[in-house]
Amino acid sequence: MTSVTGGAPRRVGLFGGTFDPPHIAHLVVAVDVRHRLGLDEVLLVPNGDPWQKRGTRPITPARTRLALVEAAVAGIPGVGVSAVEVDRPGASYTIDTVEAMLADEPGLDLVLVVGSDAAHGLTTWERHGDLLALVTVAVVDRPGASAGIPTIEGARLVPVEVPALEVSSTDLRHRVAAGAPIDALTPPAVVDLVRDRGLYR
Ligand code: ATP
Repeated sequence: MTSVTGGAPRRVGLFGGTFDPPHIAHLVVAVDVRHRLGLDEVLLVPNGDPWQKRGTRPITPARTRLALVEAAVAGIPGVGVSAVEVDRPGASYTIDTVEAMLADEPGLDLVLVVGSDAAHGLTTWERHGDLLALVTVAVVDRPGASAGIPTIEGARLVPVEVPALEVSSTDLRHRVAAGAPIDALTPPAVVDLVRDRGLYR
């Protein structure tokens, strides 16, 4: 997408994750960060190859997770999905996504959205110095994770308050495997897809 010629640069939130599956806490984070920071939109960016989760558990194929995320955000104003990492071969590095988006739309004001657990791992990310020079990072507290924002030299990190929701994709997968419902923990369209595709059994 290209900004309107002469207009102010667009302000876009990038909210990356494995989203296996997406859940209400992801959606509340996207909605509230957009509202509180006055962003034009927040894009959920499912990673194609979540290199930091390799070998930890079987990961649902990227195209399936993309379909789940598209179903999850349908009808939520200002919240969208980017397939850029699913479409790009190899490990999904956020710096590659950010550089590609800036090349496509110079001047774009990018805000990386992370939970506090992910924020504390930012310095393990590929080329994190380059990444943190290019984006502002919005950090939301996550129940059970270290609270607050880490101090990282040269980085612009801003705390954003969101309701504390103790929900995780791991919980949802365990529920499905145990035959428990996931209704209301994720939108109905996601519940339907999980059932129809036989995921997490
Ligand atoms: P899993 O349980 O499989 O590890 P997850 O629920 O942590 O998954 P991810 O897709 O790994 O979900 O997370 C994507 C982003 O969403 C991360 O930045 C993470 O910190 C954030 N996030 C996930 N759940 C919450 C939550 N309950 N509150 C705030 N942030 C969250």
